[in-house]
Order: sequence, then C-alpha cells, then structure tokens
Amino acid sequence: MRALYFDADPKRIALIKALSTVWKKAALSRLSPLKYAEVEEPEIPGPNWVKVKNKMCGLCGSDVHFLFMEIDPRVAPAAVPPLPRKFLGHEMVGEVVDAGEGAAEFRRGDRVIQRIDWPSCFQKESAPMCRQCARGNYPLCENPGWEGLPLNVGGGFSPYMVLHKTQLIKIDDAMPDEHAILIEPTACAVRATLKRPPGEGEKALVIGTGAIGLSLIGVARAMHPDVEIHATYRYPHQAEMAMALGASGVVEEKDAYRRVAEITGGRHFSGLFNNEMVIGGFDVIYDTVGSDRSLKDALRWARSEGSVVVVGINFAPKKLDYSPVWFQEVKLFGINCHGREVFRGEEMNSFEVALTLYREEALDFSNFVTHRFPVQDYLKAIETFLDKGKTRVVKIALVHA
Ligand SMILES: [Zn+2]
Ligand SMILES: [Zn+2]
Repeated sequence: MRALYFDADPKRIALIKALSTVWKKAALSRLSPLKYAEVEEPEIPGPNWVKVKNKMCGLCGSDVHFLFMEIDPRVAPAAVPPLPRKFLGHEMVGEVVDAGEGAAEFRRGDRVIQRIDWPSCFQKESAPMCRQCARGNYPLCENPGWEGLPLNVGGGFSPYMVLHKTQLIKIDDAMPDEHAILIEPTACAVRATLKRPPGEGEKALVIGTGAIGLSLIGVARAMHPDVEIHATYRYPHQAEMAMALGASGVVEEKDAYRRVAEITGGRHFSGLFNNEMVIGGFDVIYDTVGSDRSLKDALRWARSEGSVVVVGINFAPKKLDYSPVWFQEVKLFGINCHGREVFRGEEMNSFEVALTLYREEALDFSNFVTHRFPVQDYLKAIETFLDKGKTRVVKIALVHA
C-alpha cells in the first residue's frame, strides 16, 4: 500500500532544513525524509490489536508543521526518543476489517476514530501503567518512547492501519464521515475549554480562527451559553464562521491592542519600540495560533490574575517576553491534545465530552470541511492549506479510494 510517512533520519532532516532557507518547498521534494511511498500492508501484531480500512482523514495544522520539519532539535519534546517512522494522519475515520481475540468488542464493519496517537502505556500494555496513563492522560505518559511497539502500523493517510484496541473509539453509523474526522480536533477544544473554563460574567478571547480556534468557539459556546467569547481573525471567511458559531464579536489581528482595551474596558498603553500593553484585559485567553507573537500578545491582553491557555503548538519557539506572568500575575496553562476530564461532575475522556455535545446537537459541524482531495493529491491539499486567504480553507479532508 502507499502511505504518507516521515523517517526520523537526522542527515536528511538537516539537509532539508538547510535547503529550506532558499527553497521553501524542499520539504516536499524527493530529497525529503517525508515520503508517499509503498510500504507493506500491516497485519495485526497481537491479540489486542485491530486492523482498520481508512475512509477519510482530516489534515491538521500539526501534520503541516511535521511536513515542513519546523521542529527545533532543542525543544523539550525533541529530547525524548523519537519514533523512527511516523505515519501521518490522526483525524481519521475508518472501518474495522480484522480484530484480535482480545479485541472482541470490535467487529468487522464497526466505524472507528483514533483517540491515542503517540506511544503510551496503553499500546505497550505496561503493568502497572504510569500515573498519568492510569488516570487516562495518555499524552502525558511518563514512559515515552516506542520500544516494543510495531513500526509499520500505517496512519490516517494510509489505506490501512493497525491500532491497539485502546487507541480507538467506536462511533455511531449515523455520523457522517465529514463529522467523524472533526471529533479529534473537537476533543482538543474540549480540553482547552475545561483547562480553564470561562466563569459567569467573564470575557474570553480565542486567538486564531483556524479549525481549532473555530472548534473552541463552538465548544465554549455550547458549554457556556451566556459568556462573552471574542475571537481574533486574519481572513474575512474566518470572521464570518466565528460569528456563525456563536462568537460575541471578532477582532482583526491588526490594531488588536486598541480593540482589546475597548472590549474589556481595559487601558491601552504604548512605550518605546512599539511596546504595547493592555492593563485590565480578558479574563481568559485561548491561544490557538501558538506562535511567539500570539503568545506574547495573549500574555499582554489578559487582565491581572487572568489566564492564558496555550492550545496551538510551537515546535520552534524563539524569544518570549513572559514579564506579564510576574508583572500582572497572569497564569499560564497549556494542553497536549486530550485526556481525562471532569464534565458535569463525571470523569470521562475529552472524546466522550465531544461526542456528548455532538449527540445533544450542541455543535455545528456543517461548514467545517471546505475541501476534499484524494490522498494521493496531498501536495495539492497542502498548497490549499497554506493559501488560506484565497482558498477559504477551514478543514481539508483527504479521502481514500
Ligand atoms: Zn489534529
Ligand atoms: Zn504512561
């Protein structure tokens, strides 16, 4: 089968990083450690494993980061052992074609989505599990590394993949594929919202209105119908969709300092060297962009003792002015995908929260998937993703034949 994967080959990565400074698309060339190539079709490696035939998979911003190898070898995640081969595509939906005898809860024809992506005590069947996996927080696994796990497993951008039964969640037959691939990003939005929920009478800001920012607006609105939720945007189609999903107002990225002060009743100050600051800003800010710039702004737009939740990932952070953390005692949180939540007084996984809201028809997924491409046209899909202003992309679905 042909699969999209990335080999952790340090020499090739270094070569592409060097070439990328003069040739932006080097990462998509034949020299790249990223490959769309023939690999052996995987078979279930153990009794607790399941084989899935994929139908569709969403293209995530993190996939694109990976594709362009925007990863600084000095960031914390790069210190732990990498996967020698990473199959891309985690926002998948597919059908079970084979299940081991220990995975009898899955049957041929069951529709499934992927919950756990990276190695954890779940796939390794560690006994006992580390304390985070034992609580259901698999992205925070304290036994990182892939040792003992099969390598050729496939991903959402491969026709087939094999997964440990704990990596999968069954979904209803009635849920369209275009909705099923949105449950994973929605689970991330759930975790962000529950990490620091907006309280009664508070004002929240979502920085960024890409797929995750828009999901977050939808989730926060579903959970907190009466709270003011504002959002920043870059392109007009993002602003329209944010309002349709229940945002109280939108702020264009340029000139945002002044607008933030107006909306929150704060005061806008500027010092030397374009040094801008709002005193008395938002109660809680969700940064779904995750750039050095967006996090700097988030910290300066939060009120004293307000909160910032880092949602967008940054694999190559540079300099960050964290002075608002002491100057205004701003609290800084982060999330890594999904895990254990407490929702309406009950313990459950972020996916279960997302599925609960979906079944209650509290989420509007109708306009999220804007583009569809056959998997082999992944390069076209990436170009479409990168040209958001023109293509009006929200979410791209890669479809299997
Ligand atoms: Zn994703
Ligand atoms: Zn663990």
